Amino acid sequence: MRATIWGCRGSLATPGASTVRYGGNTTSVELRTSTGGLIVLDAGTGIRSLGLSLAREHPPQIHLLLTHMHLDHVEGLGFFAPLFDPACTITIWGPRPDDLPLRDHLAAYLSPPLFPVPFERFPSTIEFVEVREDAWEMDGVRIRSAPVRHPGPTVGYRIEENGNSLAFIPDNEPALEADSGLALAAGVDLLVHDAQYTAEEYATRAGWGHTAIPDFASYVREAAPSRTVMFHHDPSHTDEELETMEQAARELVGLETVDLAREGVEIAIE
Ligand SMILES: [Zn+2]
Ligand SMILES: [Zn+2]
Repeated sequence: MRATIWGCRGSLATPGASTVRYGGNTTSVELRTSTGGLIVLDAGTGIRSLGLSLAREHPPQIHLLLTHMHLDHVEGLGFFAPLFDPACTITIWGPRPDDLPLRDHLAAYLSPPLFPVPFERFPSTIEFVEVREDAWEMDGVRIRSAPVRHPGPTVGYRIEENGNSLAFIPDNEPALEADSGLALAAGVDLLVHDAQYTAEEYATRAGWGHTAIPDFASYVREAAPSRTVMFHHDPSHTDEELETMEQAARELVGLETVDLAREGVEIAIE
């Protein structure tokens, strides 16, 4: 499999001179299976550029795996070109809400007055599948979802193909629940995990649903992935500040296999 990071910022898109190296778009990752199948993880503002890159390919089927409904993970969807392609079927997988169906939550955002086009007018075929603690297989790929610690229904995903694996847990607060999502992350080839705060910042942000660097390091040591990508960069962090956090995380984890997520980077999962 191959993963391409189209957005790795958390909370709010943050374009500008201080974020050019790691990028300002919110979370979206493209995953290509060995047979060319397309799985998209989250639909933050990064998904717009991914959609443009698909202009010639016109994929007939896209699986979109949403971790949760916070705006930074869904706000790009209305600007994703395949949504306007009548030949495309988009299957949206996401956490089962406590009240309304997942479709209604997404349609409430992607409809007037918050969005100009009513949800039912998108030309593509859109299907929904609600998940919590689930496992399924599609096109030779095995996927597991499990709830993780974050405000509101939220899941992480583990995706495996031909013995290679990726865990995607962009929003998680292991300080409140040490094993949150750990079964998904255990022993993967690539772990993409929340690393939003410094220890000092976390002191005033407990309960907001994110991970401070010391907790990130403990989590990575416990999960023991081959490689880890620090994800969900805080909007207030400049490129230089992120690099300082990367250094701190590497020292605490004790491994050089920890890197900052960077917009535009392609990672082979093997
Ligand atoms: Zn988020
Ligand atoms: Zn969130």
